[in-house]
Amino acid sequence: ADVAMYVAKQRNLGVFPYDPSLDTHSPERLSLLGDLRRALHDDELFLQYQPKVSLSTGEVCGAEALLRWAHPDRGLVPPDAFVPLAENTGLIGPLTRRVLDLALAQVRRWAEQGRPLQISVNLSARNLLDDRLDTTVAGLLAEHGVAPQLLKLEVTESAIMADPARAAELLRRLHARGIAIAIDDFGAGYTSLGQLKNLPVSELKVDRSFVTTMQSDSSDSLIVRSVIELSHNLGLSAVAEGVEDAETLDSLTAYSCDVAQGYHLSRPMAADAFDAWRAAWPGL
Ligand code: C2E
Ligand code: CA
Ligand code: CA
Ligand code: CA
Repeated sequence: ADVAMYVAKQRNLGVFPYDPSLDTHSPERLSLLGDLRRALHDDELFLQYQPKVSLSTGEVCGAEALLRWAHPDRGLVPPDAFVPLAENTGLIGPLTRRVLDLALAQVRRWAEQGRPLQISVNLSARNLLDDRLDTTVAGLLAEHGVAPQLLKLEVTESAIMADPARAAELLRRLHARGIAIAIDDFGAGYTSLGQLKNLPVSELKVDRSFVTTMQSDSSDSLIVRSVIELSHNLGLSAVAEGVEDAETLDSLTAYSCDVAQGYHLSRPMAADAFDAWRAAWPGL
C-alpha cells in the first residue's frame, strides 16, 4: 500500500492517519522501518520551511522546519507516517539529530546571506527523555556556528506530560544555553497552569484544530482568545498555526495574537522556494 496516499485519504475523511508503529506485526511497519534506516543513511530526508509572520510588524519573523521523506518508491511520505515509528524503535535520536543538522545548516546559510532567521524545530516525546540532548544541540550549534537564539525547539504538551519534572529539567538546561522553547499544540493537552509557570518557555502555539474552525465555532474562537490572553499574562508570545484564510488572520490581529502561520500565508516549502517567497513577501 502507498502510505502517503493512504494517509492523505484518511485525512480527507477526517480520520486520524494510519499509524504503522501501533501495529507491531504489520509487514508494512517492518518494511517502512528498514526503509527508514536506509533513508537516514542515504539522502532521502529533507526539510520544508513554513514562514511565521509577525502580526504587529507584518514581517517574516521565523520559520518552522517540517520533516519530509522522499521515498524512492512510495513518493513523499508525511511525517505522521514515520515519526511515530522512529519514536517506538529507537531511531528518533538519530532522526532528530539529522533534522537539527539540516535546520542549522539552513540557518547558517540565511545568516551568511545577511538575512538571519530563527528556525523552529519539532522535538518528539522521546527526545525529552534524552539527558544528553542539550549537549547534542550545543555541539551542533557550535559545529554550524549558529547563535543559540536562532534556534527554537517546539515541544508538545503531551510530550512534557510523559515526565513533567524531567522534561522541565532538560528544558531548563536548553534554555540556560540560550535556546528558545515553544509549547506546540497548546490547548489540546493537559498542561496545568502551575506547570506552565515552571517551564522556561517563550511561546505558546495554539493548536491548529482551534484556529482552523475559529470563524465558524464560537467556542473554538473563545479558546483561541483565551490562549492569547494567557500567553500575554505570562509574558509569552502567542502563535496561531493553521491560518487558512484572510478572515482568520484579521480576527487574530484583532485579538492581538503575535504571530501567524498557515496555508493562507504559505504552505511549507523547500529552501529555494522559501527564499524566493520571502524575498517577494510584501508584508501584511
Ligand atoms: P506540527 O508540529 O503541529 O506541524 C504543523 C503541521 O500543520 C504541519 O504538518 C504543517 O504542514 C501543517 N499546516 C501548516 N499550516 C497549515 C494550515 O493552514 N492548515 C492545515 N490544515 N495544516 C497546516 P506536517 O508537516 O504534515 O507535520 C505533521 C506533524 O509531524 C507535525 O505537526 C509534527 O508533530 C510532526 N513533525 C514534522 N516534522 C517533524 C520533525 O522534524 N520532528 C518531529 N519529531 N516531528 C515532526
Ligand atoms: Ca510544530
Ligand atoms: Ca502544532
Ligand atoms: Ca502535532
